[in-house]
Amino acid sequence: MNATLLPEAFIFGTSVEGRELNAYRFGTGNQTILLVGGIHTGFETNTVRLLNELRDYYAATPNDILPELSLVLVPVLNPDGLEKGRQISGRFNANGVDLNRNWGCGWSSEAVFRATPVSPGSAPFSEPETVALGSLIQQLSPAAVLFYHAAARGVFPGNCGKIVSDGLAQVYSAASGYPYTSEFSDYSVTGSAPAWVDSLGIPAIDVELASADDSEFTRNVNAIRAVMTWLTNNP
Ligand SMILES: [Zn+2]
Repeated sequence: MNATLLPEAFIFGTSVEGRELNAYRFGTGNQTILLVGGIHTGFETNTVRLLNELRDYYAATPNDILPELSLVLVPVLNPDGLEKGRQISGRFNANGVDLNRNWGCGWSSEAVFRATPVSPGSAPFSEPETVALGSLIQQLSPAAVLFYHAAARGVFPGNCGKIVSDGLAQVYSAASGYPYTSEFSDYSVTGSAPAWVDSLGIPAIDVELASADDSEFTRNVNAIRAVMTWLTNNP
């Protein structure tokens, strides 16, 4: 589906507690970049601030979007966690599920965050937030998907057997200055969102901001511009 058929603002689902999942569309091009903040909230809430700042920026500066491109911004995938503020429980949705362990590639019933066990849900796509975003991705068939986290400072390609996400990760890393790392190796991440997106043949990356409080707006807007140019040259 061409993103230009979507309204400029739309609701693509609801959370466990019934909060709206909001998305915002900019640009008029055939290729779409999907950007997602707040898949983890709690101590990663600065990613929501970054997405809100990007939304305001593209609303005020539409000419910064190349004519071949459209952007769809999801500022917060986990609005229930956002309500809890900066505490570890705010990482999870209202069912206590880690929304970056609930996807359909490499899902495991035994998931961890660092050394701590976390709930991946009862099965892949058990959570309404994951179902809603997965459906949006399948409808949109974007050219690239960027998921924002904090604060491991790096760019990590989706890996479901390492197919299509490496080039995107390298472009984003070079333009942002966040180090490119072929694989997140601090601990085992199962059932992640970018891995599932990669399995669809769509490049996807986790962008880990360098701090847990700054939105790091400038380096990210520069990297998004580089991704637009890269997609234009590699349609
Ligand atoms: Zn995260």
